[in-house]
Amino acid sequence: MKFPSQIFNPLVNSLLSVFFPTSCSLCQSVVEELSLGVICQSCWKAVNPFRGVLCSLCGYGFPSTNIQSATPLCGGCRRSLFLFDFARAYAPFEDPFKEIIHQFKYRSHPSLARPLARLLLSVYQSNLDQLSADLIIPVPLHKSRERERGFNQAIELARHFAQLTRIPVPSRLLVRTKPTKVQAGLSRRERRINLRGAFEVSESGKIKDKTLLLIDDVFTTGATINECAKILRDHGARRINVLTLARVIRG
Ligand SMILES: [Zn+2]
Ligand SMILES: [Zn+2]
Repeated sequence: MKFPSQIFNPLVNSLLSVFFPTSCSLCQSVVEELSLGVICQSCWKAVNPFRGVLCSLCGYGFPSTNIQSATPLCGGCRRSLFLFDFARAYAPFEDPFKEIIHQFKYRSHPSLARPLARLLLSVYQSNLDQLSADLIIPVPLHKSRERERGFNQAIELARHFAQLTRIPVPSRLLVRTKPTKVQAGLSRRERRINLRGAFEVSESGKIKDKTLLLIDDVFTTGATINECAKILRDHGARRINVLTLARVIRG
């Protein structure tokens, strides 16, 4: 299958950037191509994707490369902490990637959805055997949070990613029915309690026996994604894969 790599062809793209110059939201240099969104090429290039040894299940990036096992597992996976089957992220949640995601999410730069979805695509293509899926499920926001922000970043990413892969994204199959507190600053246990009963599946018939790909911007402790996986599993999903832009790596 051939994937379209850009919204416009490269020539149109560079012409548009001459007539409508945009400055990079991170370093203020001129953005060379419209398809890059509001971030210049050198800031995009400064994002370092995961390269070292990863947990064979959840994709946690081990700080040390001195790992012998062919299928290494992180502490969390050894304790069977996660309810999904497989997860991967493009890069650690560190600057400048952190700031690019921040610009996308809180500074309302939807032009970044497309270039960010292309990063998801590169992870997807390198893990095709494990990540391929029947349906894409973006991690939902509660409608009050979505209204406040103006959009749901996971839906935007999923929509663009779906155009690149042709995997269907059924709308609002997984919904967030409970407005939850902001998770930042909460412990793993507090996050779990905060999220209990926060999600609902609107039509279980559609996910029964299906392989699903959950999409979100950042995998922090995995509490939100786990809660989504739990309810999807309860409604008969066969396999649950997870794809995020970034992953928080501690220490
Ligand atoms: Zn820049
Ligand atoms: Zn793991």
